[in-house]
Amino acid sequence: MNCPYCGTPLVEGARFCGSCGSELPQETPPAGPQARPSGPPPRPGPPPRQTPPPQGAPDIKDPNTALLLELLPGLFMGTFGIGHLYLGRVGRGLLIMFGYWFVLFINAILFMFVIGICTLPLCHLGMLALSAIWAYNDAKAIAEYGQ
Ligand SMILES: [Zn+2]
Repeated sequence: MNCPYCGTPLVEGARFCGSCGSELPQETPPAGPQARPSGPPPRPGPPPRQTPPPQGAPDIKDPNTALLLELLPGLFMGTFGIGHLYLGRVGRGLLIMFGYWFVLFINAILFMFVIGICTLPLCHLGMLALSAIWAYNDAKAIAEYGQ
């Protein structure tokens, strides 16, 4: 770039001509700062798009996982309600868990009167089916309606 007044070659970025002392038009420096503000605007765009998936993803629970979490610990350990806890139904899950332990306690007493031999398997299978179906349907409802 040369001085527009005297034609002397100029040092890059110089504000005044070294030969004639004229103030030089600052064309290139303003162009830089102006170009930079146009850069950031596209950046605020992507963040709003990224926020909805993290909010939606954790809420969707797999009905089959909820079903298995009820069936397996229920069948082998007599512990129900884990599938409901998984779905975020903490109060209900704990109620089912402690409620069934209470049922087991009653059945233990009934064992002394032999009736427990019949009632325990019935309670266990009934609880297994009920809590598993409940957890499964609840998970499907959560997936569909978000509640
Ligand atoms: Zn000059």
